[in-house]
Amino acid sequence: MTATLLFQSFSAVLIGWLLLHYAHIYHRKYLFYWSYSFFSLAIFLLGSSLGLWLVDNDFGPSSPWRLINLFVITTAGYMQIAFLVIGTISLVKGTSINKFTFIRILMICLFIAFCITVFKNWDASGADLRYLTRIGLRYFTAGLACLGTAIYILRNDPNPIIGKKIVTIGFFVYGFEMTFLGWLTFENYFFNGSDLLLYLIPYHGLFELILYPIIGVGLVVWLLEVERIKSKKTADQLKHLNLSDALTGLPNQPALQQFLQQWSLVAQSNEPMTLVLFGVDKMARFNDGEGFKKGDQLLIALAKRIDMLCRGKPFYGRIYGDVFVLMMNGNEKNEIKKAEKIRQKLSRPFKLSGQTFHLEVSAGVTELSNTSDHEQAFNQANLALMFAKQRGGKQSLAFNSEMKSPQNSNINFENDLRSAFKNNQFELYYQPIWSSKNRIMCFEALIRWQHPSRGLLLPGAFLSMLQQMRMMIQLDYWVVDEAFKQAKAWRKVNTDAAKININLSAETIQDGSITEHIKQCSLRHQLTPQHITVEITENTLMQNIAIGTNTLNELRELGMEIAIDDFGTGYSSLNYLRSFPADVIKFDRTFVSDQSNHHLNHKILQALIPLCHDLNKKVVIEGIENQTQFNQLEELKVDGFQGFYLSHPLAEKEAIKMLTMSKKSMVKAMFNEAPG
Ligand code: C2E
Ligand code: MG
Ligand code: MG
Repeated sequence: MTATLLFQSFSAVLIGWLLLHYAHIYHRKYLFYWSYSFFSLAIFLLGSSLGLWLVDNDFGPSSPWRLINLFVITTAGYMQIAFLVIGTISLVKGTSINKFTFIRILMICLFIAFCITVFKNWDASGADLRYLTRIGLRYFTAGLACLGTAIYILRNDPNPIIGKKIVTIGFFVYGFEMTFLGWLTFENYFFNGSDLLLYLIPYHGLFELILYPIIGVGLVVWLLEVERIKSKKTADQLKHLNLSDALTGLPNQPALQQFLQQWSLVAQSNEPMTLVLFGVDKMARFNDGEGFKKGDQLLIALAKRIDMLCRGKPFYGRIYGDVFVLMMNGNEKNEIKKAEKIRQKLSRPFKLSGQTFHLEVSAGVTELSNTSDHEQAFNQANLALMFAKQRGGKQSLAFNSEMKSPQNSNINFENDLRSAFKNNQFELYYQPIWSSKNRIMCFEALIRWQHPSRGLLLPGAFLSMLQQMRMMIQLDYWVVDEAFKQAKAWRKVNTDAAKININLSAETIQDGSITEHIKQCSLRHQLTPQHITVEITENTLMQNIAIGTNTLNELRELGMEIAIDDFGTGYSSLNYLRSFPADVIKFDRTFVSDQSNHHLNHKILQALIPLCHDLNKKVVIEGIENQTQFNQLEELKVDGFQGFYLSHPLAEKEAIKMLTMSKKSMVKAMFNEAPG
């Protein structure tokens, strides 16, 4: 009997050690609890064999050795049950117990052990009751705990994995056996039951000896399976993360590539697909005006719409920035109509944080077969999208072979631009701004590029490239110098009108060193800065309100006037009109040219012009193209008029001629020769 107990104890230590070893590797709490449970069992079994030895060696029931041993093994016996249950709950629920709960459980076990140790210990007639409380009660509690644990596992997972199955069956069998033994002990005591208990007890040790390794192996298999499932889940999640866009959760570019590869393998040669790329018109402007956070919100809202509208289609996702992709079965001719319908639905106004935004979406469409070069097809759709945007947006455009990528020519164009500075190919044209008394108030200097092969280019053709090349400051520096030189020269001809407005870019304003450059130009050309007015667009100012205001205040201190250009196109509120450090407000040309809202625009001007005057700001209107517009604006008491009706931007020589004309001939030129 003692040998069996020692052997059992040894196997419990082995299992406990195995579990502890895995607990350290995997850092799992439940493994620690289970290993403690087996160590407690080992102590219990070792103590039991020591107890038998003490009895055999005539240590009486009151011997302190027997009492201490009894106290220890009872504590260990109940600790074994407690740890087993806690470990299982921790595994199924993923929770762990804190230090205080642990101490509480230990105290309860110590208390139970104390009660059991002293209960009837000195009562000679209490042997049966002692047996009942010391042995029977533990059988019963341990049995019920094992049965409860097995039921608990099954309830949480009716289809357990193999390791879990082994453990559950092990607990069931062990639990049943222990409960049965416990029940027999109670039956013997209360109802003088059969001698079955006596027959069974010797086999109990053997039974435990077989069952422990089974449960132990089951626990290890369970653990390995849990870890395998977990690492598979993590791998799947990683795969999902790699294939989905972090901002919108839609599939991303690698996912598209994967889709196209798989489709090419299974598709028939006569089964074409249509590739559609959607992009937001003027997204960069939206980001500039509203900030990137709102920009992201917009993309998320757009992704939700795409998700709703494209569900069921073979593939859809976000590729980069504001570009979303949709793959449809069928050829481009039929599918472009569907793409256009989706595009229109995507273009509906967006409500973001209570504000409504009217943004349009464009689409580029191309067709591909299973043998097509996917990258080429993607580039084609991208080109079609670019052309759709360039044509004013709000449209779906199918790719055609005449659409050429600007990429190669871009590199040459960049080189040309760099050498334009060295080769003095930039030139200023001057467009007069007329005062209300039909006199020239000043000129606006507008940059032109005399390209060696393309001829005279307008700013729209090269400013954005210069901006990408971060060369706007260099250009503005050159313009400032040139304007000072020109205004100084013109003063000899006409002192009143020899004033020049220059346009400064956002980069220059942000850089701030322009003030110093202006001071130097003023010294070099012997001309005070009052003769030069700085024009800065409303959007530029809004982007850099703090730095911009600072630079503009410095320029004003030099005596320069500041004009807010393209006023009314940005996102500024009327409130800013008051705080802008501006002397002149140049209303954007859309106030004059937008025929569809003519009445409304007129009303806005009618309200705003007196307001500007009240705030001590002059008003200039640009884009006047005919006499009717001019007459209407004259009635509104505008201070300055600018537009093709009065004069196109002029080359330097023509501008000088204009300056030297007498007032009379100017008026004549204005009404007889100006284009209508
Ligand atoms: P802006 O400062 O608003 O200049 C007015 C633009 O309107 C000029 O275009 C001018 O030619 C055009 N314009 C004038 N009257 C009419 C009209 O009656 N009808 C129409 N449709 N257009 C009219 P441009 O010269 O092509 O310049 C475009 C923009 O490029 C300018 O707009 C300005 O923002 C920028 N820019 C021009 N020169 C410079 C420069 O030297 N430096 C910087 N940083 N920007 C410049
Ligand atoms: Mg301007
Ligand atoms: Mg303007």
